[in-house]
Amino acid sequence: MASAAVPPAPTLDIADLTAQRVRAPAEFLVTAPDTTLDELPLDGFRPLTGRDVNQGISDRAFWIRMRLHNSGNAPVHWVLSHETTYLDLMTVYWVDNGGQWHECSLTDRAPFDKRMLDYRRLAFKHATPPGGSTTLYLRLAYEKPDSVSLNLDLAEAGRFADQSRREYALYGLYYGAMLVLVFISLAGAGLLRQWLFFQYAVFLVASALMWALLNGFAFQFLWPQSVFWHNEGFHILYLLMAASAFQFSRGFLRTRQRFPGIDRAIRCVQAIMMLGILMRFAGFYEPVLVLSFVGLLSLILLAPLGFWAYRQGQHYARWYAIAWVLYGIGLALGVISAGTPWLHWGMDSLVFAQAAGVLEALLLLVALGERLISWDRDRRMALRMAHQDPLTGLNNRRGMSLVYETFRQRFERTGLPVFLILIDLDHFKQINDTYGHEAGDQVLVDLADLLNRTSRPADVCIRYGGEEFVLLLQVPSEAVALDIAERIRLDFAGTPTEHEGRAIRHTLTAGIAPVFAADVQLSPSQMLRDADRALYQAKRQGRNRCRLYQGPSRHTS
Ligand code: GH3
Ligand code: MG
Ligand code: MG
Repeated sequence: MASAAVPPAPTLDIADLTAQRVRAPAEFLVTAPDTTLDELPLDGFRPLTGRDVNQGISDRAFWIRMRLHNSGNAPVHWVLSHETTYLDLMTVYWVDNGGQWHECSLTDRAPFDKRMLDYRRLAFKHATPPGGSTTLYLRLAYEKPDSVSLNLDLAEAGRFADQSRREYALYGLYYGAMLVLVFISLAGAGLLRQWLFFQYAVFLVASALMWALLNGFAFQFLWPQSVFWHNEGFHILYLLMAASAFQFSRGFLRTRQRFPGIDRAIRCVQAIMMLGILMRFAGFYEPVLVLSFVGLLSLILLAPLGFWAYRQGQHYARWYAIAWVLYGIGLALGVISAGTPWLHWGMDSLVFAQAAGVLEALLLLVALGERLISWDRDRRMALRMAHQDPLTGLNNRRGMSLVYETFRQRFERTGLPVFLILIDLDHFKQINDTYGHEAGDQVLVDLADLLNRTSRPADVCIRYGGEEFVLLLQVPSEAVALDIAERIRLDFAGTPTEHEGRAIRHTLTAGIAPVFAADVQLSPSQMLRDADRALYQAKRQGRNRCRLYQGPSRHTS
């Protein structure tokens, strides 16, 4: 135990203490990890300034000394707390008014309920008597190298209580928002059957857990008995969070289909991260620490990847990219603060990263929404293209069963008969042979236009095969259906196709069959067979004519 030989540390008057960061006149000293209080080279202490706060990753012991003087006439109760939640050891040596030295060891290597204060960070509480002073030597150390911050907060006890209440409420907002987002994404995953929403939820949970650990809430509320998870969980959760962010990104940007090379690289990175987690469980420390910091930093690459995907036509990737710019900046500042001595902010910057994390989560949700809409648009487009004949723009035969079903329902609703007109061009092969295939195509387009012009909106025109067309329509009688077919036939025969200055004369033949009527109810194959029979007979009779199916009327079973 230290002796009275330790000279008084520099003095700070705490009579009017509210809350403040510990800075000069407080002094600090860096020593080998095993140096004791009695062995301290006392002339080695230097004033603690903002520039000294961030010590990067280190396994040294850090000493801070100060003398708190209470010039007032009432005792001052105060709380001294360290900025980070993962500080392993904070040993406080103190003496009041030149009396006995005391020692108090605070550590996060014991269950949470062993703490002096029920607070997420290590904190020491004491009272300095009126007119008296308390001399303090603090030793901050990690059992294994970790990122060191010398930021300590000194606050009047009542003030400390107020501040921590506000602080917990503010963090409550963060976790509340994350919980809502997780709920929304899980609901999205379930209702829309979108695996991507589930990946997003996993990322959110990993992210929130990582922050809960960093904020000290995981230890306080989730696993207060698990010293292991509080101390060893950090790098595991950093890696898990980074790996899940990559996983979500692979799904979101469809890297496997769109950017196979990048996808392979990401899978490699993910494999390394998983290996890091396994190594952590196997007891490796420093390589995993470095890996986890690099892993977090590598998330910054997701921003340019998003922009690139946007440039490549994934327009929904813009929100994704902006989201990662935000989080990337926050994370980079945080990791640089924690891992290097280059920034002097201590871990304050992590609060920005965390706030940026909520914004990013919201933006990612917007991105997911936009992606969903874009998916739906693509799907509809693909569906339309699949059911459309590229040459004429008419429906193709793939949509036949759908059209059939529509007419069946219309017939059931209205009782108005439905007819099928099957049209086949006459000697079309000859037209191709004489004028060329392109001319033939033009004839087909002309016929499609004619059908579109002649039919009413409720009728459906289909290019059924090469030069075979189907018109389904609902009219009162066979006579009307025949009349419409005749009009088409005459119009077609009367308007030759103009192609490269030549007029191509052409005719068509049509077979007409009732599909739904009072005593008829045909299946799709039956209706085509009947119409084809009529068509065949009309062809045999010399082409360029329309013919009604003349056979026994049938019902489908
Ligand atoms: P028929 O009067 O007996 O119907 O004689 P046809 O020559 O019209 O009948 P056939 O079935 O022997 O020939 C149909 C021709 O239609 C053969 C094929 O090359 C042509 N054809 C099919 N699809 C297309 C197409 O998309 N464009 C063009 N230009 N020709 C096509
Ligand atoms: Mg034919
Ligand atoms: Mg033909």
